Amino acid sequence: MTTSPLKRILVTGGAGFLGSHICDRLVEQGHDVICVDNFFTSQKQNISHLLGKPNFELVRHDVTHPLWLEVDEVYNMACPASPVHYQYNPIKTMKTSVMGAINILGMAKRTRAKVLQASTSEVYGDPDVHPQPESYRGNVNPIGIRACYDEGKRAAETIFFDYHRSNGVNIRVIRIFNTYGPRMHPYDGRVVSNFILQALAGQDITIYGDGAQTRSFCYVDDLVEGILRMMAAPDSFIGPVNLGNPGEFTIRELAEKVIKLTKSKSKLINLPLPADDPTQRKPDITLARKNLNGWEPKVDLEAGLLKTIEYFAGLDLRQYRKPTDHTAHKSSQKHAGQ
Ligand code: NAD
Ligand code: UDP
Repeated sequence: MTTSPLKRILVTGGAGFLGSHICDRLVEQGHDVICVDNFFTSQKQNISHLLGKPNFELVRHDVTHPLWLEVDEVYNMACPASPVHYQYNPIKTMKTSVMGAINILGMAKRTRAKVLQASTSEVYGDPDVHPQPESYRGNVNPIGIRACYDEGKRAAETIFFDYHRSNGVNIRVIRIFNTYGPRMHPYDGRVVSNFILQALAGQDITIYGDGAQTRSFCYVDDLVEGILRMMAAPDSFIGPVNLGNPGEFTIRELAEKVIKLTKSKSKLINLPLPADDPTQRKPDITLARKNLNGWEPKVDLEAGLLKTIEYFAGLDLRQYRKPTDHTAHKSSQKHAGQ
């Protein structure tokens, strides 16, 4: 008798931007997929096409509470990811990262599941080493407005490695750099979604600060391929590993590209830079290339932006919950006592 290669796989945050693309790939491969989400920063639209499939199950649950499931693998993606979303309720953000990790790791210990943690380039803070290799320990302000996310993710990495060392839990840790594409929440306040929506509506493009800060933008399909390869990597390679596109652009360059590709008449305006906004960010992906069968991003920024623009242009914004009045630059003004 041969045993089935099909697995029972849990994706926490599975209705979110990245989680929903992971669910798509796993369902397509025939696995039994359980998507757990509390819909804090996502809506059912992202996974509605999967509802009703025999190998897909949706559970509304908050990962800060324990959950009892029998699974073979877990992708732990649950956490608000954009500054506007994670600063909305910073205490809850920290709880989601830390208590979520503890609950998932406890389950993985009991079921002997392999568990992958979605960590972030934010563990490097405002980096003074450029580009950032995994060996760089970071420059995070532990009491700033981004700390609920940065330090929460750093603590989650610590707990993952301690469960691995103390209890033999089979872990994988990835550090994701800025990723964009279809199914980003239109009101997440991230730079790509903001600029595209503003350009499509002919509104001013809001550059925070002078726009000289840099980011490296990875298209979602490239990232998800890297995530799946990391889960399948040999047990000798657990990470942390950087996943992202090493192409580096200033925020002003991004704005100009979006205007060009949308043929928009929008103007660029400058707003205050949020506190602790990293000045530069670019992944060193040597480790991923070497250990993930030559993985590297294939979609360049303009090609990825065109697909994302097409997605946002076709979106019925009336279906999405409005943003809160909390925006990144407002919170920085408050921080500065203005
Ligand atoms: P997202 O906001 O679209 O997805 C996060 C999902 O988690 C949402 O569906 C949300 O409702 C859910 N969630 C939040 N809190 C939860 C809780 N307490 N219980 C259950 N579900 C909860 O964001 P994303 O971009 O898809 O990010 C997914 C993961 O990847 C996050 O952990 C994020 O930190 C990490 N990450 C993303 C990026 C990026 O550029 N997209 C970069 C670095 C790290
Ligand atoms: N940003 C901007 N205008 C916006 C939204 C963001 O200039 O409307 C800037 C932001 O200050 C940061 C960069 O774009 O320097 C990326 O911001 P995002 O929130 O997408 O991600 P993160 O700062 O977490 O990398």
